[in-house]
Amino acid sequence: MSDWSSRDRKYVWHPFTQIQTAPEPLLIVRAKDTVLFSEDGKEYIDCNSSWWVNVHGHGNKHIVNAIAEQALKLDHVIFAGVTHPKAIELSERVANLLPEHLQKVFFSDDGSTAVEVALKMAFQFWHNQGTPKKRVLALDGAYHGDTFGAMSVGQRGYFNEPFEYFFFDVDFLDFPTKKNEIELLEEAELLFATGDFSALIVEPLVQGSAGMRMYDASWLDKLVSIARKYQVLVIFDEVMTAWGRTGKLFAMDYCTLKPDIVCLSKGLTGGVLPLGLTVATEQIFQAFLDREKSKAFLHGHSFTGNAIACAAACASLDIFEENETWQNIARIANFYQDKFSELEKHPAIESVRMIGTILAIDIKTEGGSTYFSNIHDQAYDFFSKNGLLMRPLGNVIFLNPPYCITDEQLQFSYSKILEFASSLSY
Ligand code: PMP
Repeated sequence: MSDWSSRDRKYVWHPFTQIQTAPEPLLIVRAKDTVLFSEDGKEYIDCNSSWWVNVHGHGNKHIVNAIAEQALKLDHVIFAGVTHPKAIELSERVANLLPEHLQKVFFSDDGSTAVEVALKMAFQFWHNQGTPKKRVLALDGAYHGDTFGAMSVGQRGYFNEPFEYFFFDVDFLDFPTKKNEIELLEEAELLFATGDFSALIVEPLVQGSAGMRMYDASWLDKLVSIARKYQVLVIFDEVMTAWGRTGKLFAMDYCTLKPDIVCLSKGLTGGVLPLGLTVATEQIFQAFLDREKSKAFLHGHSFTGNAIACAAACASLDIFEENETWQNIARIANFYQDKFSELEKHPAIESVRMIGTILAIDIKTEGGSTYFSNIHDQAYDFFSKNGLLMRPLGNVIFLNPPYCITDEQLQFSYSKILEFASSLSY
């Protein structure tokens, strides 16, 4: 055990890890573009963009320079009663990229807090008007983060059982498939017609943690139109789907109807620094304006609007203005497209799906698709040994790499996926 490993064991409590039985964590000491370098000199392709955040590759010079420049100029300042140019620039640029009605940008720290803010905004929007509405509709299998509000609107079960007594009531619609689409819309209509619903929250088009499960924009449009009919606020959690992941800047760009509130994080800073944004309509914002201070949105974090994170986000937006970024996104999607039918035919593969830079493969298992499938450990070990850092979601192995991944790295990752599938006896 290296000195680092023993010190890690002694002092560090890792997330989502049963430390008693987990193998020693991989010690990464350096990263460049799509490659992570371990202490013992091995290289790993960052197949899942370091928890789906890193969009432009590690050590991107433009982002690093922006961070250094900003750190020397203004690192951080309280954001209540104070503002600063980078937060203003970022808000303006994000608002200009989003549909016109999404204008008011609220800052927080990560994906969970961006969701927490969205829910609190929706609840208080109704409360401020003297018509509090207690119910929320979410989708079965949802994951919106690990804070209490975010957990409440997420899939109940194994991961949050100890906290379930404390969650507020949420109605869940089954995940939409071709078979149940119409029934689900009818169910949503009956629920919304009660007039008790403050908000609908969804991960648009792709449920990330549920196993990169994908559904149609046209169905989401229909659901949103029912929510509109009954004045239910629509929240799109684009924490995972934004910033080119689905092949467009935002997943909502595939939809005709847009949300009232959108949550952004992960790739917002290029995946380099934590930052969350919750962007709302002018109409929602107006409901918080009053002579009475208690009607204000009394929410904030010490690091709200951190200037260095804002500078990283502005630099990331610069990179999205370059054609090369979009060519890379299209190149990755084309690569997946080319391999799709070969994967579908593989005897060890149950199903394959893709959108933009996300490719998800369900490996056949006896127990069906589950997060606790032992395929997870088998796959993780196999890929690590072969120089790929890939963290499957149960029996779902997936690629969502930084956009600068090279053709060779894509081809190598793909060949290892095939090799893994072929190593399973079916
Ligand atoms: N929403 C979605 C859709 C996510 O995928 C995640 C994280 N995977 C979150 C919210 C929570 O974000 P964070 O981990 O930054 O709190």
